[in-house]
Amino acid sequence: MPLKFFNTAQRRVEDFVPLVDGQVSMYCCGPTVYNYAHIGNLRTYLFEDFLRRALEYLGFQVLHVMNVTDVGHLSDDGDEGEDKMLKGARERGMSVWEIAQFFSDAFFKDSERLAILRPKVVCPATQHIDSMIALIHRLEEKGLTYLAGGNVYFDTSKFPEYGKMALLDRQEVSAVSRVSHDRNKKNSRDFVLWFTKSKFESQAMLWDSPWGRGYPGWHIECSAMSMQYLGEKFDIHCGGIDHISVHQTNEIAQSEGAIGHPWVHYWLHGEFLLLSKEKMSKSTGDFLTLQSLVDQGYDPLDYRWFCLGAHYRSPLTFSAEGLDGARNARNNLNEKVLGWKKIAEPQKLGQGGLEYRARWVAALENDLALPQALSVVWAVVKDASLGTGEKLTLLYEMDKVLGMGWQALTGDKSESVPAEILTLVEERQAARQIKDWARSDAVREKLKQLGWTVEDSPAGPLPKRIV
Ligand code: AMP
Ligand code: ZN
Repeated sequence: MPLKFFNTAQRRVEDFVPLVDGQVSMYCCGPTVYNYAHIGNLRTYLFEDFLRRALEYLGFQVLHVMNVTDVGHLSDDGDEGEDKMLKGARERGMSVWEIAQFFSDAFFKDSERLAILRPKVVCPATQHIDSMIALIHRLEEKGLTYLAGGNVYFDTSKFPEYGKMALLDRQEVSAVSRVSHDRNKKNSRDFVLWFTKSKFESQAMLWDSPWGRGYPGWHIECSAMSMQYLGEKFDIHCGGIDHISVHQTNEIAQSEGAIGHPWVHYWLHGEFLLLSKEKMSKSTGDFLTLQSLVDQGYDPLDYRWFCLGAHYRSPLTFSAEGLDGARNARNNLNEKVLGWKKIAEPQKLGQGGLEYRARWVAALENDLALPQALSVVWAVVKDASLGTGEKLTLLYEMDKVLGMGWQALTGDKSESVPAEILTLVEERQAARQIKDWARSDAVREKLKQLGWTVEDSPAGPLPKRIV
């Protein structure tokens, strides 16, 4: 079966054929580093990591590029609202440069803990201002820009294809700006390429440009940097679904407006992580971080496993029960792998093993159907007729995409007991000392739900994972 992906630009599943045989050029919109990434953001980066790993597993060389937005992103994607970096700096009493460094480091630390492979090129916007200026200059030469109130705008009325990917209504696009607070805009969808008149007094990030000292709009960075590293045509562009209607619509207008031909072939978008049906939002501050899950005793890989449970194009609702289920499943598999390692070595696949491999590949090729791929993992684990060595071979292979670290698992690695579990063990001890058996049983039950049991040894109570 050929590899297929759902291409948002065409709204259909298409065969994937890269521009250069065996190679994939892939650009992913990166984090805006004014706050911690929330677990919703991280779901999108996990999807992109699974995608890259799957492509590599299938034999492609992937040039994975991701930007870091450290300038120019306002709290509303359409140029309204506050500057996100300035807001972050003010709230934390740091400079914008310090904020960018601090949250960029935090983002890569989270990524590492989630086993997200670092993109081959990570490009901070502030280090690519020249490329952005050059691109704006090209757009100016093509007559696609206008100057108003000191800022350079993209004129959407001069780009007939504007909004095609997002299926925007032409009338709405060409409507004279009524809702926007920016009276300089000729059309409601026009957007700033370069600001020289900042509405923020404390604007600290400024560069010289042909239009005056200022700073770039948010959208221009992705057009400029993706083309700098991947060329004027490349294979895959990713992001979360919220980027379709404004940010990436504007990216397409800028890039195709400047180069005069189609730009990206496949657009892949990750659906949202929901918190009780609501979208998790970094700007309202109503969100969960990876660290908050770690503080509750979870391993970051529990969250990675949790995200594998839904197709990337389906919304996923976060819940403690769901994460507990992921943790139990992961621990269960870890124990299985550890047990097999003690008695076998990876072995060449026979007919049965080869069939599982084919089913696994078919799931990946089917628009990255990871829940379908996981069902193949479980089928391998449960198949009593399959040799242990073959099971190891298959799981190690699958783990190149799943990223659970099975090959590196060692039995002697004594697992650290999460703080939450230790507290419950103490609570149980205290209940037993005062002969409160009902309470002690209740705590034991709670531990069981969390995947732990307690063995009473001469040295005291020993928490153990339930296998
Ligand atoms: P930002 O740092 O706000 O630019 O967002 C980083 C990435 O996270 C983008 O690709 C967004 O589309 C994505 N994103 C934002 N909110 C969510 C969410 N609740 N679930 C999944 N992805 C999200
Ligand atoms: Zn982008």
